[in-house]
Amino acid sequence: MRHDFQLSIITLLGACAVFGITPFAIFRFATGNLVAAIVDLLILASICVTVTYAWRTGDNRRSGFFLALCTCAGGTAVATVVGGVGLFWLYPAMVTNFFLTLPIIAVAINGLAVAGLMLHGQAFESSEQMLSFATTCVVVSACAYIFARRNQHQRERLERLATHDPLTGAKNRRAMEEDMQAAVAGFERNDMPHVLILFDLDHFKRINDQFGHRQGDATLMECANLIQRYIRRTDTMYRFGGEEFVLIMPGVQETGTRAVAENLRHKLATELRCPGGRVTASFGVASLYAGDDVDSWMARADSALYEAKASGRNCVVIRERVPVTAPENGTVASPASPRPT
Ligand code: GH3
Ligand code: MG
Ligand code: MG
Repeated sequence: MRHDFQLSIITLLGACAVFGITPFAIFRFATGNLVAAIVDLLILASICVTVTYAWRTGDNRRSGFFLALCTCAGGTAVATVVGGVGLFWLYPAMVTNFFLTLPIIAVAINGLAVAGLMLHGQAFESSEQMLSFATTCVVVSACAYIFARRNQHQRERLERLATHDPLTGAKNRRAMEEDMQAAVAGFERNDMPHVLILFDLDHFKRINDQFGHRQGDATLMECANLIQRYIRRTDTMYRFGGEEFVLIMPGVQETGTRAVAENLRHKLATELRCPGGRVTASFGVASLYAGDDVDSWMARADSALYEAKASGRNCVVIRERVPVTAPENGTVASPASPRPT
């Protein structure tokens, strides 16, 4: 979301700058003001290169920074060459800087532009004009800073709402599907092992029935907090639905999956409590194999969880890949049997 927003801002501002500056470059060439015209052309070229770089690499952080730098340095150069009329260009450049780069960096760039112009002094007709310019730049930058910070905060909030479960703070199912796709793609590219653990609290309905929904919610939150404490920073937890959670763990070799899952099962069984006593969970585990897609990977973990429930709960079942067999009549047997809901 953030990525798309920044790229569209970079493109929009780049296009506005090109359309805004080009007529001035032509006019300055036509009226013989060659130095100013060349400065305009340099600004145009830098903007085009930066926008192209953003589209080709997707590196919006660097592109935004360079665009902010280009427009402000360009505005400063134009004001130095053509005098007072060039100062007007700095206002839009200073405001848009806050949408292109981090607010603190935008403040620094704006400060440098104003300080540079004041030290040089050439662009101003009087000290009063210079002070008015500096004051209005500070006012414009302060307003833009506040607006940009607010905007950034709201965007982050929106992003969190779209990707996280509000009750447990774990990521939601939509984020899980995106991350699973990324894991499958990453595995195809660089063989990075990944393990998926699907776990489901045992007899959770009884907690709701005996102690109420609030207690059920509290148990879910406690479970999520507990698991979060025992997984690595690179592992991610998702709420798959109801009282089912998923963990995606990159870098865990198939030989280590049992120890990892058993450890988590043991932590839950010994540390998760509700008024009725201890709370346990059943675990289905599946490593990612070559040729897997998101569905086949999840289906293995799901069938392992079903088996863990059928085997008496509070246990770990690991589902290795069963080779797909082609019986003589030509139909292909599915490697993982779906579990009833
Ligand atoms: P099993 O050991 O077979 O998993 O049994 P179970 O009781 O845990 O599973 P079941 O699917 O029968 O019940 C799950 C319950 O979880 C039913 C539903 O009301 C409850 N539940 C789902 N989401 C929430 C939630 O957000 N909060 C609370 N308090 N309960 C929820
Ligand atoms: Mg359950
Ligand atoms: Mg369930």
